[in-house]
Amino acid sequence: MTRLHNFCAGPAAMPTAVLERARAEMLDYQGQGLSVMEMSHRSPTFEAIAAKAERDLRDLLAIPDNYRVLFMQGGATLQFACVPLNLLGQGGTPNYLDTGIWSSKAIKEADHLAASHIAASSRESGYVQVPRQGDIALSADAAYLHYCHNETIGGLTFDYIPELDAEVPLVCDMSSSILSTPLDVSRYGVIYAGAQKNIGPAGITVVIVREDLLERAQPSAPSLLGWKVYADNDSMINTPPTYAWYLAGLVFEWLKNDIGGVAEMEAINRRKSEALYAAIDASDFYANPIAPANRSLMNVPFTLADASLNGDFLANAEAEGLLNLKGHRSVGGMRASLYNAVSEADVQALITFMADFERRRG
Ligand SMILES: *Cc1c(COP(=O)(O)O)cnc(C)c1O
Repeated sequence: MTRLHNFCAGPAAMPTAVLERARAEMLDYQGQGLSVMEMSHRSPTFEAIAAKAERDLRDLLAIPDNYRVLFMQGGATLQFACVPLNLLGQGGTPNYLDTGIWSSKAIKEADHLAASHIAASSRESGYVQVPRQGDIALSADAAYLHYCHNETIGGLTFDYIPELDAEVPLVCDMSSSILSTPLDVSRYGVIYAGAQKNIGPAGITVVIVREDLLERAQPSAPSLLGWKVYADNDSMINTPPTYAWYLAGLVFEWLKNDIGGVAEMEAINRRKSEALYAAIDASDFYANPIAPANRSLMNVPFTLADASLNGDFLANAEAEGLLNLKGHRSVGGMRASLYNAVSEADVQALITFMADFERRRG
């Protein structure tokens, strides 16, 4: 068996140790005589799996007691609609920061429900830096401010947490950065993340919401899109994606026990991304356009000086076992996603390949 170097933007690499554990437990979960995926979600065994996953996530991120953790479906994209549905029940204007493709999609979805206000945008810079705190101008009746912490496609990340008046909740799409660094949850009203980058397989979505905000839903919101319904029913209003939930729990355990927590994970992630950015910056053949302070820890887009070599770069990389380096179709070039499960050895293999390709073809 060979596991290659997987730089996929999502669904992304999983820790090998987690997959091995899932394999060992797959047919007969802890002597129960059946697989987790064949179990009732109401069984005590699954309830224990679900509760442990939540406890471990709470430990990892030091989530305060007045926040609820919800496990939903539909990915981050469904949360683009859930945010206005759950936060505009008392009126007000949805406010957004525009920093690239994912934040733009969130804005578009909110506009179906109420015209949004763009409180700041990095469009003019070509999305190579985030707006500064002083650039953020909320509307007078702001119901919330939404932003995307890490623009997965652009490789652009926030180096600060926007500061707001206490009554305006901060809402954040952390799909591609959650669990990559420690996090001060208390600064946020709502944090959400699809699983398939740093949490587990696709199909489950984590929402962390401050309890008082559960009372702001629009009455017309379908019950399966209402955060409060999930909070009141331990995220089991209907059948949850049980196996994805179990695998997410194994990833949380791996992060706690094998890595040692999110601070240790951050140190590893910093070494990975710094090594790759240093290699890009040291070369005239590779380039990354993002302002250094806003370069993503997780997604590193880069271009080749001669774009006609893109196809050869990808084919040669794949032959060396370096997978999924093609940039998003909307931006072209390359992108290496360095999520938690991507090791320092994976990144070193990429750097070695890049130097070799430049020597032969640059
Ligand atoms: C991947 C991603 C999404 C979309 O996630 P889905 O689960 O496909 O809906 C949204 N926002 C960000 C920042 C992402 O990285």
